[in-house]
Amino acid sequence: MWADKLNPTVRRIKPSGIRRFFDLAAETKGIISLGVGEPDFVTPWHVREACMFALEQGYTAYTANSGILALRREITRYTADYLGLKYCPENEVLVTVGVSEALDLALRAVVAPGDEVLVPEPCYVSYQPCSELAGGVAVPVPSTVERGFRVRAQDLERAVTPRTKVLLLCFPNNPTGAVMPRAELEAVAELCAARDLVVIADEIYAQLTYEGEHVCFATLPGMRDRTILLQGFSKAFAMTGWRIGYALGNPDFIGAMTKIHQYTMLCAPVMSQMAALEALRHGQDEMRRMVREFSYRRRLVVKAFNDMGLPCFNPGGAFYAFPDIRCTGLSSEEFTERLIREEKVAVVPGNAFGECGEGFIRCSYAASVEDLTEAFKRMNRFVNRYRNS
Ligand code: PLP
Repeated sequence: MWADKLNPTVRRIKPSGIRRFFDLAAETKGIISLGVGEPDFVTPWHVREACMFALEQGYTAYTANSGILALRREITRYTADYLGLKYCPENEVLVTVGVSEALDLALRAVVAPGDEVLVPEPCYVSYQPCSELAGGVAVPVPSTVERGFRVRAQDLERAVTPRTKVLLLCFPNNPTGAVMPRAELEAVAELCAARDLVVIADEIYAQLTYEGEHVCFATLPGMRDRTILLQGFSKAFAMTGWRIGYALGNPDFIGAMTKIHQYTMLCAPVMSQMAALEALRHGQDEMRRMVREFSYRRRLVVKAFNDMGLPCFNPGGAFYAFPDIRCTGLSSEEFTERLIREEKVAVVPGNAFGECGEGFIRCSYAASVEDLTEAFKRMNRFVNRYRNS
């Protein structure tokens, strides 16, 4: 009845393809969920304790718009140590409400109505809607399993038009776990310089790289000032519910993002900022322990899929497997729905991440080994039933 009052862009945007399956899974008793993208670990105790201590000390008020200076300093120290990249804590860092807010701000700061945003697919579900909510036009650039789900400079080149403004990159990738080798990223960087593109590099899974090195896009020659680097705490530090992340970039980009943030969010929650400060100062050992555990599960999961006859791309990072389900004769949505109903295992259909994800499912291995083992027993039964029918 009131729909005609809505912003047409909002009306056009489809609800996330994942929602329906999450609802179905939520109402299914005895479900094992390999659907959600969050660590199964509780945030390390010393981080929780730092938050409680901050509250005890009365840290309950607004902070500076761009975040507590001590946290911005710690972020720049961590970035310098970890990536060898220097940023100024005063005007090149913005602490945000998760990478989600940082992504939204980066797009709104840069994209003008009608500007095109190149979105390599398969990709995280919010890239296309956030690009369009910012007034832009999302232009998908598909990749294939044969090409290791990596983005190729020549494919991007073909998609560039005079309206192209932004390239959105996400490696290690959600949903495929793909990582990009340095030489291929350098070719992408050359294209970005030649076509004067702004790069939004969502590197939320950077620390969860198991094979090869993580190449931070902003470290490539000439890319630091062209790139808005997004980093967060949700995945590597098991802090999804704290809603805390950050953006790094040149003062113009960060200044524009801060301007929007100061009117829309004011600041990230102070207690989460204090917890993030502790995570960066003392959380490296816990993080490495979690990464080792994910890496162990990754091998288990990839082998389990291959053994059951679903060829599985070898993910170099993040915590997702993206096996090929085409031998079952089911679409990715049919597979997902029937797997929930028949065997009580929740995964995500590949087409939720772009059309080229059809024929695949995303399975998170941020779940206990016991749950993974039981889930694979059930999936094995399911796949045998369909492959032979
Ligand atoms: N970017 C990617 C690629 C993600 O996979 C996610 C969450 O799944 C996010 C951003 C959102 O992260 P945050 O919890 O920091 O908002």
